[in-house]
Amino acid sequence: MEQVVSAEEVRGALARPRMEGRTIGFVPTMGALHEGHLSLVRASLAQADVTVVSVFVNPTQFGPGEDFAAYPRDIEADAALLAAEGVDVLFVPTVPGMYPPDASTTVDPGSIGTVWCGAARPGHFTGVATVVVKLLGIVGPDLAFFGEKDYQQLKVVQHVVRDLDIGTRVVGCPIVRDRDGLALSSRNRYLTSDERGHGTVLHRALSALVESVRAGNADAPMLERDMARMIESEEGVTLEYASVVDSDNLERVTTIDRPARAIVAARVGSTRLIDNVQVPASGACDNG
Ligand code: AMP
Repeated sequence: MEQVVSAEEVRGALARPRMEGRTIGFVPTMGALHEGHLSLVRASLAQADVTVVSVFVNPTQFGPGEDFAAYPRDIEADAALLAAEGVDVLFVPTVPGMYPPDASTTVDPGSIGTVWCGAARPGHFTGVATVVVKLLGIVGPDLAFFGEKDYQQLKVVQHVVRDLDIGTRVVGCPIVRDRDGLALSSRNRYLTSDERGHGTVLHRALSALVESVRAGNADAPMLERDMARMIESEEGVTLEYASVVDSDNLERVTTIDRPARAIVAARVGSTRLIDNVQVPASGACDNG
């Protein structure tokens, strides 16, 4: 595995495979890698000829008072994991390398970036969209892999790539969970063992929604109220939102009559957790 720091080095490392017509897969991350990240890496290794992974804790997607400084960083452990998987190129840019003092351009994804997590974290998705467009510009991948764990981020990236005619196919990958149902996240390491137990309520509430829809309930506001009630009654957990939305534009739906996603965010102690699930077609699995 070749580990590089600059955009020029990335282009140099990819010049030959590109000339040979080999496909390039790309997995952007903020490091502190776990099995969720590795599932994206494995998808890239399976679907592309060459796999590039970036590890960059992007300052522009953190708000004031968020955990940018405290965000877990362990590049040696990350590099060892990626080398063992068979990754070809690891790109670890620096903050000044990505954001020279005279850089002034940002990418605003519009309204899809101001709802849900974007409402709680103003500017977050502009930071995400800007860094993703830069990384796609540097790597020039055929395929880029993003987790459904950050469902709104996946949709923002798909919209930006479509709107700006970027020639990369954005591939969404399923959420990887721990045995207790908690979606894997680099931030889970902030949780105490008690908080971890309480944090599983997000997954429990989403699973209950799936069961309820399968039993024939298509009333989205009622499903939202049930999720909210379950999450709010869990000790130490503060609900931010629990909503049923259109799978593509993230607008709330009132009835399950189209592809929909249930999305939740809550604070457990001082840690913000998010989770989501695809809503089954109403009553679809109820026929025997
Ligand atoms: P992050 O390092 O948190 O920025 O995440 C990098 C990529 O890994 C994003 O596309 C995430 O959606 C994805 N990811 C993080 N956790 C998971 C998970 N539990 N399952 C699937 N993908 C994940």
